[in-house]
Amino acid sequence: MSVAIRIDGDRLWGSLMELARIGATPAGGVNRQALTDQDKQARDLFSRWCQEAGCVMRADPIGNLIARRSGRDDTLPAVMMGSHLDSQPTGGKFDGAYGVMAGLEVLRSLHDAGVVTEHPIEVVAWMNEEGARFAPSMMGSLVYTGAMSLDDALAIKDVDGLSVGHELTRIGAQGSPDPYGKPAAYFEAHIEQGPILEAKGKTIGVVSGGQGQCWFQLTLKGRASHAGTTPMDLRSDALVGAAAIIGELNRIGRAHQPGCATAGRVLVSPNSPNVIPGSVYMTAEIRHPEDSVRAAMEQAFREAVDEAVRRNGLQPQLAKVLEQPAAAFDASCIAAIREAAERNGYPCMDIISGAAHDAVAMSRIVPTGMVFVPCAGGISHNEIESAEPADLAAGCQVLAEAVLSHAYSGNS
Ligand SMILES: [Zn+2]
Repeated sequence: MSVAIRIDGDRLWGSLMELARIGATPAGGVNRQALTDQDKQARDLFSRWCQEAGCVMRADPIGNLIARRSGRDDTLPAVMMGSHLDSQPTGGKFDGAYGVMAGLEVLRSLHDAGVVTEHPIEVVAWMNEEGARFAPSMMGSLVYTGAMSLDDALAIKDVDGLSVGHELTRIGAQGSPDPYGKPAAYFEAHIEQGPILEAKGKTIGVVSGGQGQCWFQLTLKGRASHAGTTPMDLRSDALVGAAAIIGELNRIGRAHQPGCATAGRVLVSPNSPNVIPGSVYMTAEIRHPEDSVRAAMEQAFREAVDEAVRRNGLQPQLAKVLEQPAAAFDASCIAAIREAAERNGYPCMDIISGAAHDAVAMSRIVPTGMVFVPCAGGISHNEIESAEPADLAAGCQVLAEAVLSHAYSGNS
């Protein structure tokens, strides 16, 4: 049986604004990359706030920082909320920070109302979700869920040669092996980072899952030669081949919406105005919520590469460097989020997560749900990222009720 609690939207907004002062940039954003001094300050502030709300803090060996609020039966698995405190170098105030501060606001509201839940409740700040300083992204949740080994993660270095392990120790963020088993459920609130909710006039996105993705690296070798003396029909122009592939990739993405296909990086060699490009390195990525459609998109991409190679007399080297299947979130978590939105009269819609999140990693091992709220213009990973206090409060209220529906609460 669950009791009603009301979260405090003003307090949530105040916490977000205070947190955003740590690593604040002149353009109104945040630079708080993983395991920097700014990250440490944010972690310390989060810890203090959670302790003031009656929680016990712990960290695990990869630096995931977890606040725990006891339940009536502390041997039961926790119901967990969370997101991340680290940011892109030119990040915004809300990406990640919102999910952690929304979790904190739920803890504070439970504390103020004297609610005792049957299950313990936890809020986690995942280490290095962004992958900006240390690749890959979602490092903390990947290690927590066993998708990446701790030793591999600790050895990863930033551009200055400093390792994750070194920096964890330096800022005192490394903890001990987690004494608790996996949680009963995981919920994450996050800004949408896309334009759909705003365009449809919805306050709450009920996330049904994350789309699958595959990344490719392609090198096309042609023949560099003089741009004035080599007749057009005797050329092996690697950039012309790459251009054709990029055009096809865009067509493939358009033809398989809501899927996406992107060539994000192109390096041309020798990159000189009067030399026919002798080689091109490029990346391609393909995403779709259905794995079978993504496979068809990949096939079409491979055919486009073959065609461009044949037409331009090129030597291709194509490698798939990442493949992640689509993630389906848990039916009972999704239902809890939708019911909470409807109970409060918030306009809501089902939505797929276009970006990867810690929740996608968690969904591989525990029942998981995600709440999206709109952000202005759909813009994120940008210092101008912004969101409305009322929308953030609504998402937090939905988060609170979804968590309570899985944690069986009553008044003490
Ligand atoms: Zn994020």
